Amino acid sequence: MLLYDSLRGKLKEFPEGGSAPVTIYACGPTVYQYASIGNLRTFLTTDLLRRYLEYRGLEVKLVMNITDVGHMLNDADTGEDKMTASAAKEGKTPEEIARFYEEAFFRDLDAVNFKRAWKHPRATEHIPQMVALVEKLLEEGHAYVTEKNDVYFDVASFKDYGKLSGNSVDDLVAGARVEVKDDKKHPADFALWIHNPNHVMQWKGPRGIQGYPGWHLECSAMAKEYLGDTLSLHIGGEDLKFPHHECEIAQSESANHAPFSKHWLHVSFLLVEGEKMSKSKGNTYTLPDLVAKGYSPEAVRFLLLSSQYRTQFNFTFEGLKAAERTLAQMRSVTEQFAGADPVKGAYETRLVEAMDDDMNVSAVLAIVHGFMTEANKGNIDKNEGASFMRAFDGIFGLRLFETKSQQIPDEVQALAQMRAEARANKDWAASDRLRDEIAAKGWVAEDTPQGQKLKKA
Ligand code: AMP
Ligand code: ZN
Repeated sequence: MLLYDSLRGKLKEFPEGGSAPVTIYACGPTVYQYASIGNLRTFLTTDLLRRYLEYRGLEVKLVMNITDVGHMLNDADTGEDKMTASAAKEGKTPEEIARFYEEAFFRDLDAVNFKRAWKHPRATEHIPQMVALVEKLLEEGHAYVTEKNDVYFDVASFKDYGKLSGNSVDDLVAGARVEVKDDKKHPADFALWIHNPNHVMQWKGPRGIQGYPGWHLECSAMAKEYLGDTLSLHIGGEDLKFPHHECEIAQSESANHAPFSKHWLHVSFLLVEGEKMSKSKGNTYTLPDLVAKGYSPEAVRFLLLSSQYRTQFNFTFEGLKAAERTLAQMRSVTEQFAGADPVKGAYETRLVEAMDDDMNVSAVLAIVHGFMTEANKGNIDKNEGASFMRAFDGIFGLRLFETKSQQIPDEVQALAQMRAEARANKDWAASDRLRDEIAAKGWVAEDTPQGQKLKKA
């Protein structure tokens, strides 16, 4: 397929050389608050690509991390750690905050039918790998220890610094996008390891320095741990291009002497009713917010995937209502084909062509609408229709073939949400009571390392 590569700034064949398995690293959530629908759009784009590659018969190894340390509020090297700040605000430990929002994250992913990644590694469980990476960078002259015992990456030692974001080191300084600090050799140098005796989370780090990792380090370390030196693709929201991904490239390529990723994909930012999402505007919606307003997770998923990942997407409630209506039409068309044996036909070929064209979702949806019109007139062969709808549903993950009885009812979702909150507050009595209430409705709440999962009894 052709996919836009944001490192080279052009469409490129993906995966390169038909490589198998396809290895994808996706920057995951910082688990200090609920995921917004903006976050979800980026995660769902990852899921769409993964499902499409699997539909095309490729094996995909997807790693999506959980950031539970080291990500500063202003996305720079100093300031307050997002985890610690949230913990202080909620009167909990960073660990409690992390597990609570991680559980909420997986609940959201399940609700929107995101296929779990092969690995969802936590940053705090990969400190030795991060330390080893920093030691290597120190040994090879790509990093240095400051007077304050912080470890910085030396951007002057990596000639390609800036190749992803198109920033030269000098532009960065001029544009004040980097912090000028006395103890850094160059203002664009970024933190690998931070020594701060007041930080709640501390480990023994490189050169035995007590401290905690810089935010960019975890992705380089965990990508290498699970997927090796060179990825097929690295994906994230467009905000991560700089500094996060630029710094990941610098660390990984300096340490591994190999290209970090053959392909880079950045998902454009989501707007809400034409505006940037922000706490002050009160337009930062989460999936549970929308479910509480009566919308289905499937409609949220469908809407967030309904425009191509490179076009800026404007979320509106009008759009969400329209998504519900379209889904209802799709379900009713699907019923016609539910029992038939799938046989590939022309519509499916067109679907593949549209997806191969840089995941051109608008073209896909035009094909689906045309298909539905013909299906409603009885003009579609049952077997070809079955194959087409199964392909579309499998790639877009809309649960069109699931009957009502297989879908988790909203009231059970609500009980599960309350139970997760009770567990996070260590209120075991309430947790058990809610489990019984869930059971009375015919569902089983199972506790897994990634949180609670609901199953039909
Ligand atoms: P975070 O939890 O802030 O580290 O973000 C998790 C992922 O969501 C990253 O890939 C971000 O780039 C992405 N993201 C954050 N906000 C938005 C948004 N408004 N639209 C699209 N993606 C976003
Ligand atoms: Zn990352």
